[in-house]
Amino acid sequence: MRNAARKQSPFRQLEFFFDARVISPLPSAPELQDRARSLLRGLDAGVLTDHLRVEWNERMRTTVGRADFRRCLISLNPALQEFGPAEIDRTLRHELAHLLAHFRFGRRRIQPHGREWRDACCELGIGGERAGHTLPLVGRSLSRRFIYYCQNCQGHFPRVRRIRRATACLACCRKFSEGNYDERFRLRFVKNSSSGNSSRF
Ligand SMILES: [Zn+2]
Ligand SMILES: [Zn+2]
Repeated sequence: MRNAARKQSPFRQLEFFFDARVISPLPSAPELQDRARSLLRGLDAGVLTDHLRVEWNERMRTTVGRADFRRCLISLNPALQEFGPAEIDRTLRHELAHLLAHFRFGRRRIQPHGREWRDACCELGIGGERAGHTLPLVGRSLSRRFIYYCQNCQGHFPRVRRIRRATACLACCRKFSEGNYDERFRLRFVKNSSSGNSSRF
């Protein structure tokens, strides 16, 4: 009876369907990490391949990607989601090229976006990548941006407006509760990100 009633009033879920048109969950960090590691295989990357980690970092504001040599860590800004999979992939490779160049030449002083980095970019399939490449829409579209996430699948959902009504992660509702709204997958507020120009560094 309860189930039947819920199925007859799918308004909350319907609203989500409307809102969902530009939203798809981000690839998970482990997924991106696997991708980055397989890019390194066959290149002269030594132990970097096994030590490399990738994370989504909600605290990042105007920077979309960052490479930490000491921790072999690539951090990506969840706001990248709005630029789609190709831009996420390109940013991943840009940062990976920094780690690769540093791994190979770390003992020598190299320019952050110098020849060694550009060579690594070529090997990682993004020849012609530029330093501080600015994502065209970031300055405008990051303003008043609210980022939500699903505790279950860790998917991130950047939104232009604050979510007023109960909204759940569609992927998880489909997977675990037959497409019905489920409180367990309600989107949680992460941050209100700032405006400004964004670049990869
Ligand atoms: Zn989810
Ligand atoms: Zn860079």
